[in-house]
Parts: sequence; structure tokens; C-alpha cells
Amino acid sequence: MQFSSDILIIGAGITGCSVARELSRFQADILVIDRGSDIAEGATKANSGIVHAGFDAVPGSRKAYYNVAGARLFPALCEELGVPYRQAGALVIALEEADLSTLKELLERGRENGVEGLRILSREEALALEPQLNPEIHGALLAPTSGLVSPYELAFAMADDAALNGVRFRFDEQVTGAEAAEGGFRVVTEGNEYRCRVLINCAGASSAELHNQLTGDSLRMIHRRGQYYLLDRTASGIFSRTVFQCPSRMGKGVLVSPTVHGNLLLGPTAEDIDDPLDTATTQAGLDQILEKARKTWPALSTRANITNFSGVRAHLEADDFLIGPVAGCPGAFEAAGIESPGLSSAPAVGKDLAALVAEYLHLAPREKRTPYPRPPRPFHEMTEEERAEACRKDPAYGTVICRCEVVTEAEIRAAIRRPVGARSIDGVKRRTRAGMGRCQGGFCMPRVAAILAEELGCGLNEIRKDGPGSLLLSGPIGECEERNPKA
Ligand SMILES: Cc1cc2nc3c(=O)[nH]c(=O)nc-3n(C[C@H](O)[C@H](O)[C@H](O)COP(=O)(O)OP(=O)(O)OC[C@H]3O[C@@H](n4cnc5c(N)ncnc54)[C@H](O)[C@@H]3O)c2cc1C
Repeated sequence: MQFSSDILIIGAGITGCSVARELSRFQADILVIDRGSDIAEGATKANSGIVHAGFDAVPGSRKAYYNVAGARLFPALCEELGVPYRQAGALVIALEEADLSTLKELLERGRENGVEGLRILSREEALALEPQLNPEIHGALLAPTSGLVSPYELAFAMADDAALNGVRFRFDEQVTGAEAAEGGFRVVTEGNEYRCRVLINCAGASSAELHNQLTGDSLRMIHRRGQYYLLDRTASGIFSRTVFQCPSRMGKGVLVSPTVHGNLLLGPTAEDIDDPLDTATTQAGLDQILEKARKTWPALSTRANITNFSGVRAHLEADDFLIGPVAGCPGAFEAAGIESPGLSSAPAVGKDLAALVAEYLHLAPREKRTPYPRPPRPFHEMTEEERAEACRKDPAYGTVICRCEVVTEAEIRAAIRRPVGARSIDGVKRRTRAGMGRCQGGFCMPRVAAILAEELGCGLNEIRKDGPGSLLLSGPIGECEERNPKA
């Protein structure tokens, strides 16, 4: 089939969703396509969830500019979209005496980048803030403006807001070719052809590949995997702030950090890999995390570990973001090489790219936008009175589906009915937290599947865990035994 639009955005991660939302303020026909089956299937679903203060990036770089500009937008943005965000602060610790000079460099760098409130703490001051820290540290840099956010929840909210204001989304569309054509661009996927006047490349780990198809000036990307340990909420409160070790050439190093939902995160590793889709975890990588994280938190225990995961960084050889028009290809724009601090930068990147595209196409602002309806408070955060009131208005609040995270049937149905709603078990999980707890969906998964089937009007045997090839059921028991007699 052929589809056409004024603007085609490739990639529905945090960058593509931010650009789409900002462009939805203008009168234009906008389409977002992604090879994944949902929003945030790339790096946006697997990162540290930290809104970096901005002391790490080299002054004058795009990373430094967008990090600080983006981080400043977070509090109001998350408030407007009802996305959990907490300005928890961060420490960078000096494990060796020699690290103290790195802390001073980071302090200077941060001040040059415009980061407020940075201060070097003595060992005693740092331990008073975080008593579980290694008592042998030599000092720490305090960054009070560092924050915590749920990256995919922010992307979902941005996508919903954009969709409410006319942006269309299509999934399971892997772009295999893009070229300039009459009046704009021709983009092909496995089954379809797309025509557009403006093309925006927000393709994360594939952004260099797409860039190279559009212009002669070739980019080289290194895919750098980061693995994690995630501990459940019984580890909540062990650390209140994100704790980094001193950064190296390969990145910000292994951190120990609370998440905005009260879990504790350990990681990531930094391994250069060949396949950008290889999000496996390995014993060697996980062992490395524990060894390094114990230098920050000597009493580390993995008893509360509930899952491990990994994400892939899109590192450009030039070690900076590439944001703006694609050189030598009028009408093409890009956000390429968006590795860390890409999450922190996304709100500012979205604004800048949308302004450039609006100017290029001479777009008029939309006269009226549909305001984003703030989602109700999650049931598990409600007071007893609020719960009673919610159940009175909608009895589906009275059925708890996920016991670990206390997620109700009403919340799951609402997640499926959102403008860009959940279509899979993992889609429900990331929108509601059903399945995010200690049992990792062991109890609630069949019940979530049944609600999905009912809401989507399909059979249980059509429900997927996430993308293609992840059907939950293989067929009726009789047929399954015939196919596999030993089962
Ligand atoms: C381990 C790790 C830790 C990180 N920690 C932080 C942090 O704490 N703070 C921070 O600010 N940043 C962090 N980052 C960086 C941040 O996660 C990324 O910069 C950000 O998520 C990038 O968003 P994106 O939308 O550009 O890319 P992605 O989220 O990767 O989205 C790109 C999208 O494009 C789609 N796509 C790709 N190729 C094609 C194609 N050919 N056809 C169709 N669709 C395609 C993908 O499916 C994907 O959905 C971290 C990254 C990693 C990997």
C-alpha cells in the first residue's frame, strides 16, 4: 500500500515522540512509523532513566547544550503530562584520591554548561547523605538538579498527546530504503511505500544507516550495549540519589540508582557489539556490574533482583549528537547518534527540530489543540477515600489484577483505550506496571491477556507478549499435543 503525509518521522522512541508532539502544534499531516510494535521499543525502553544534570558533556558540544536545555523542561513537562518525575539529585564519588581532580573537572565543566547547585562534598558529608556508600570514598560531587523519570511512560504520554492532535502512528514497519523523490521523499518498508515532503530520521541505533542512504557524507556508528540488574521495591530507600563513579572514555560508568518507581538499578556495562538489536544479557556482563557496583555499595545483595535487561547506545564516532537538516539533502532532518544524555535532551531536541521543520514548510500554528487529559492517580498511590470513590465511579477499580504492583482492571482497560493504546502484554506492563513486580507477571499475565483479548475483540491465541513471534498461546491443548507428542 502507499501512504502519504506532509511529514514522515522514522522512529517512535523518546526523540521521535517529542518531535511529533511539538510538530502537532502546527497545521500539517504527520505520520510516525516504527519497526517495533509499540512506542519506545529501542533505547528508550532500556536505559537508566536519569535526567542528567549536564556536568558530564563537553562544553560547547550539542550534548551539553541539549542536556541542560532539556533537563530544565522536565519538571513542567512531566507535571503537564502526568508522568512520574523526581528531582532526586546525584553524586559522583571519588573511589581513589586521584579521582578528586576528576570531580573538580566535572564541577568546572558543569558550571560552564550552566548546571546549577554543583558542590564538592567531603567524605563525611557524602556519607551523611547516603549512609550505604562505601566508607572509603575520598569525596563526591553533588548535583542537586539530577532527576529520575520513567522514559517509556514519558514517550507514551508524548505520543498520546501528539495522536490527540492529529499525528498518526504505524508500527511493525521496518524502513528498508529512503531516497529523495519528486516533491520530497520515497520511503519503503517491507510491505508499504511512504511519500512525504519532509523526512525526519529519529531511528536511534539505525539513524546512521538512514543518514548514509540520504547523503554522501557517511557516518559511522558504534553500538554499545549496557546491561542492568533491577532490584524490587524492597531495596527502595537504600539510596535516595543516583550514585555514579567517575566517568571514563566509554561512558558514565556503573551507577547505583533508585528509579522513579522505587526500584533500585545497578549498571550499565559498556560493550561494543555488532548487532544493534542484540539486547541479550550475559553472565560476564552481569558479573562485571556486581563487581563494580560493590565499590559504590559494599553491602550489595542480589536477593531483591527481579530482572536483568540491556539497551544499546547509538554512539557516533564523532562523539556528539547530530541534530538538524541533513547536509546536502533538502527536506531531510535528523536526530542521529542520540546516546546518553538523549533522554534528558529529548524535550529540547523535539522543540528545535519541530521549529526547523515548521520554518522549512512554512507551517501555520494550529488554531486549537486538544488539551492532554491528565491521567488519574495510580490506584496504588490513592488514599482509602480516593480508592472508594474510584470504585464507586467504576467498579473495575475493585478488581486488582497485578497483586505485586496493585494494578486494577480499570487501569488496564484504560491503558488499552489510550490514543496510542497497549496492544500486547508488555505494552500493558509499561503503561500500568502490571507485571513489573516480584513475580514478573507470573500471576497476572493470563488475566491481562484475557482483558486485552476482550478489549481488542480478538482471540486469546492472538495475544502477543510484545512483537511478532511472541504469541502467548500456541493453540488448543489437543492440537498442541498432536504437533508435539512428547509435550
Ligand atoms: C544503557 C543505556 C543507558 C542510558 N541511560 C540514559 C540516562 O540515564 N539518561 C539519558 O538522558 N539518556 C540515557 N541513555 C540514552 C537514551 O536512552 C537514548 O538517547 C534515547 O532513548 C534515544 O531515543 P531515540 O528515540 O533517539 O532512540 P530509540 O529509543 O532507540 O528509538 C529509535 C526508534 O527507531 C526505530 N527504528 C530504528 N530503525 C528503524 C527502521 N529502519 N525502520 C523503522 N523504525 C526504526 C526503533 O524501533 C526505535 O523505536 C541511555 C542509553 C542506553 C542504551
